[in-house]
Amino acid sequence: MSGSRDVAIVGAGLSGCLLACFLSRRGYEVTVYERRPDPRAGKAERGRSINLALSERGLNALRRIGLAEEVMVDALPMRGRMIHPANHFQPPLAVRPKRGRRPIQVEKSSVEGKLDFQPYSVDGQRAINSISRGALNNALLDAAERAPGVQVVFDHRLVGLEPATGELTFETPQGKVQATAGTVLGADGAGSAVRGQLLAHDALTESLDFLDYGYKELSIPPAGGDFALDPGALHIWPRGTSMMIALPNPDRSFTCTLFWPNGGTRSFASLSSPAAIERHFAAHYPDLVPLAPNLVDDYQHNPVGLLGTVRCDPWHAHGRVGLIGDAAHAIVPFYGQGANCAFEDVVELDRCLDDTGGQWARALPLFHQRRRDDTAAIAEMALENFVEMRDKVASPAFRLGKRVEHALERALPGRYVSRYELVSFSNTPYAEVRRRVQWQHRAVGAAALVAGAGLAAVGLGLSGSLRSLVTPGSRRH
Ligand code: FAD
Repeated sequence: MSGSRDVAIVGAGLSGCLLACFLSRRGYEVTVYERRPDPRAGKAERGRSINLALSERGLNALRRIGLAEEVMVDALPMRGRMIHPANHFQPPLAVRPKRGRRPIQVEKSSVEGKLDFQPYSVDGQRAINSISRGALNNALLDAAERAPGVQVVFDHRLVGLEPATGELTFETPQGKVQATAGTVLGADGAGSAVRGQLLAHDALTESLDFLDYGYKELSIPPAGGDFALDPGALHIWPRGTSMMIALPNPDRSFTCTLFWPNGGTRSFASLSSPAAIERHFAAHYPDLVPLAPNLVDDYQHNPVGLLGTVRCDPWHAHGRVGLIGDAAHAIVPFYGQGANCAFEDVVELDRCLDDTGGQWARALPLFHQRRRDDTAAIAEMALENFVEMRDKVASPAFRLGKRVEHALERALPGRYVSRYELVSFSNTPYAEVRRRVQWQHRAVGAAALVAGAGLAAVGLGLSGSLRSLVTPGSRRH
């Protein structure tokens, strides 16, 4: 059983299909069971199109099976964030009167200032890539079906699992179906049925931390046949209690994702009529309104998705069942890393099979041990990035901080590297990114103190003390 050659993967999503390709190269017989019908035959679910930001970690995994180039044909590079600024004080705004005069009601525009482009990397050239999750999944499904020894079975929803024996029960349009596999890998996403079965068998513990926020997709169609916004950027409308982002699509449209609290007076539920929706967007996202003719329809009919962090322990049971990707460690989407991290999982599990001579009973615990800290680190960084995107990116202090950070990167190439760069443009383990960034911040703070100067001065001419304090030592892959 421990070195078994027949593997059942539950879930033909992003990680399940990629994993099937990797296992095929090792000579395994793989059956991938997917609850949905074949997505290549039908239309995407309304409001669930999701375009992903694919970055280095995901590309690194795709390169290993020769799929990166094919996938990148449909990707659009985004070299920075484009901030759509707002005035947080909504109209009408009462201005303090001069003595003896009546208060003046000023109709202050809710949006002021210019668009602000903030490059992701110091040279402005590195990009994350906007890609449709559906298109990426379809490319991976094609690759899995082409891979020797792999079979993909649709319309099979896992409803039962005996972890000790590998017996699986599926619901299909024809009724219940049973199967058995030497090894069972749960790649069935955040709401994983495999994880649920392990929980029911007391094989793991789990915690699900739902955010108070949900998300809803809106759309910006092409304007006069062209992109309505700059397609070379990830657009952000930071609004404090809410936030919207927009990513470009190859058909010259943009998919917007609005993040907003699930309940309360300012929440998705608070806009119940077309007039209320129009008023809200005119006040808070006025530059979106003329670009989004389907705004009211999208808002009323697209579902609100849940966001949360999944933690469970361990990710394996009985030496034959394992979890991977979102099934093991779903995270909130604010660092654009969920899929990238799931792809990185596949590379690491493959390495664990190498390091254990293909013994699943050793490879699965080793995989958990090696990935636990990294996935916990990106889960935390993703939550922190929500606050950054929602509240901070528009502030002058944040912009100054970014300029100082880029100045440091130019002055200390390879020695001072920003967190965004390490997460999105390198394969440095996430836990190491977190440690290194904390160290860099301490070093910069200490250097600024030693130099007796503020950070701005540090950005202009770096002192010798800073050079000695910021040390290299990052493990790059
Ligand atoms: P999934 O892709 O969810 O695949 C799971 C599969 O299992 C599905 O096909 C499902 O139908 C199937 N399944 C489920 N239950 C069963 C069952 N009982 N039986 C059989 N099959 C089953 N990540 C990024 O890297 N960059 C981004 O920019 C990004 N943006 C995001 C934006 C939003 C709004 C959201 C919600 C997520 C975003 N993500 C992003 C995260 C990314 O989508 C996920 O991390 C990624 O899809 C996880 O891949 P997976 O294979 O683990 O799970």
